[in-house]
Amino acid sequence: MGKIEELNKIGEEILNLKHSPLYEYRVENNYVPVPGEGSPNAEIMLVGEAPGANEAKTGRPFCGQAGKILDKFLESAGIGREEVFITSIVKDRPPKNRDPKPEEIEMYTPFLDRQIEVIRPKIIGALGRHAMRYLMMRYGLEDKLLTIGEIHGQVFETEINGLKTKIVPVYHPAAVIYSRKLMKDAEEDFKILGSLL
Ligand code: URA
Repeated sequence: MGKIEELNKIGEEILNLKHSPLYEYRVENNYVPVPGEGSPNAEIMLVGEAPGANEAKTGRPFCGQAGKILDKFLESAGIGREEVFITSIVKDRPPKNRDPKPEEIEMYTPFLDRQIEVIRPKIIGALGRHAMRYLMMRYGLEDKLLTIGEIHGQVFETEINGLKTKIVPVYHPAAVIYSRKLMKDAEEDFKILGSLL
């Protein structure tokens, strides 16, 4: 199976995931899951937290307010949105944008792991503390894990399925909406991502 077929298969499995704790909320609101989108050959994968309302209505990651900020950061870092693959640790929208629960992270992250396995990115940008925590714990960097304020923009090297991979925690685009300082720092974080290409 080629990369596109494998990614489509993962997307279909997520769509059919009826035993998720977020399934009922999805159906009640006419939402759809957001498996992720982008280049199957991406060198950079961006991993967010969970879809917001706009994303759950359209099935597309980062298409709402946070997406506009993300686009701005990508542009100023010289990264084309079409060259990355964008997804999140949880693929259905949690009610009222609350933080994902541990059991939700546990349910959806095997899909993320498989997406990483198919795409084989060189660089993974962990957008926000939830993605940072999951990815660093999962891929052998638990001893380096601190708060996102302490380690955003740092480059952590690991190996995923035999491939050298860099994991970079960056501020989540939605976190910067009310803070100028975070906005500047987040822009710098994305520039670091761009410089690794
Ligand atoms: N936040 C995320 O983590 N993902 C989205 O798609 C939108 C907001």
